Amino acid sequence: MSKVLIIGAGGVGRVVTYKCAQHPEVFSEIMLASRTVSKCEDIVRDVARDTGHQHLSTAAVDAENVPELVALIRSFGPKLLIHVALPYQDLTIMDACLETGVHYLDTANYEPKDEAKFEYSWQWAYQDRFKEAGLLAVLGCGFDPGVTSIFTARAAKHHFDEIHYLDIVDCNGGDHGKAFATNFNPEINIREITQKGRFYENGQWIETEPHEISKMLSYPNIGERNSYLIYHEELESLVKNYPTIKRARFWMTFGEEYLTHLRVIQNIGMASIEPINYQGKEIVPLQFLKAVLPDPGDLGDNYVGETSIGCRIRGMKDGKEKTYYIWNNCSHQAAFEETGTQGVSYTTGVPAMLGAMMVLTGEWSGKGVFNVEEFNPDPFLDQLGENGLVWHEKENIDLEL
Ligand code: NDP
Repeated sequence: MSKVLIIGAGGVGRVVTYKCAQHPEVFSEIMLASRTVSKCEDIVRDVARDTGHQHLSTAAVDAENVPELVALIRSFGPKLLIHVALPYQDLTIMDACLETGVHYLDTANYEPKDEAKFEYSWQWAYQDRFKEAGLLAVLGCGFDPGVTSIFTARAAKHHFDEIHYLDIVDCNGGDHGKAFATNFNPEINIREITQKGRFYENGQWIETEPHEISKMLSYPNIGERNSYLIYHEELESLVKNYPTIKRARFWMTFGEEYLTHLRVIQNIGMASIEPINYQGKEIVPLQFLKAVLPDPGDLGDNYVGETSIGCRIRGMKDGKEKTYYIWNNCSHQAAFEETGTQGVSYTTGVPAMLGAMMVLTGEWSGKGVFNVEEFNPDPFLDQLGENGLVWHEKENIDLEL
């Protein structure tokens, strides 16, 4: 029985709050805090109605302000903090956790606001401080990063002596009926997918132009979709933790219509993170764009179809080459019926709750900063299906890659 503090009342925060409240035996008291407290109150009202959890509360907090965070953490007294606000706040929240003696868990690596740069260096630099404080920081416990890293850990533990080729494949086969919308925070999402592509081969990182490399891949229950090589943060920790990997790539599906919108947004300068002066006020074009795009948390209504995310792996077992595919499909409609939001928020929120459960029940332990593939994947994957994300695996099939 533990108190947990969730920060960030967006689509993912909604799912995490629902999922924690479904396990009162672990999460006995839950506080949801965010910049806009009315968003927390809306979520908590729905969660209390649907789960009957008796100890839910809300608070306003600016997660970029360490003294404010420290005061809130001290007044509530959680054992663990789940950070599902934005990656910009990773370091201030880690600082506040260190100051108050609270374990930390997030779903996305730190990004400075003025540079779209995805790397773990800033958070890995906290290793000694978390170790000395006897605290645990769990990095990247959403779906990707998160479950994809844990799928890789399962492959390494149970299916391979050596992993040689890793391809993470992420397909959203859903349709929300809007001309253009992103499935999670538009600012973070557009920063991620408009950057140059990057993959790892024979000890080196190889850079590509954005969306330069694509391949038609088939996804279970969805069919063929054009998939584009992009950089994704879990590649950095996976090649470090599995040094036998010769090549690691990440593929994401985009429709033609989506890419056309994205090209226009970039060509007219709306994806820029450089501040401009507009009528005497400084604004960041991408932040303004976020304000006019649909809120990802509101996409669930009428969202049909499924996501399919998994790992396609080739390597050696008992002296022979083998292939392995492990994946989950998630229905947007089922996610919406359960939590009032769509599948991308759902596939991120469920693993964040489960990771928190692993820490609070002692299944995952340690002192310092850890990526999720460093923990035992078995207890996590044992519970993933019953918490809404059923997974499947196949051996010795054509991986198409
Ligand atoms: P949203 O934009 O819907 O929600 C973010 C929330 O954080 C908002 O409620 C926002 O408040 C709040 N927030 C922003 N800044 C602050 C601040 N300074 N202090 C307090 N609260 C703040 O995002 P999502 O729910 O879609 O995504 C949440 C996180 O999940 C992101 O970090 C994203 O990168 C990550 N993610 C990870 C995935 C994975 O698989 N690993 C996949 C998808 C997302 P306000 O409403 O007031 O602006």
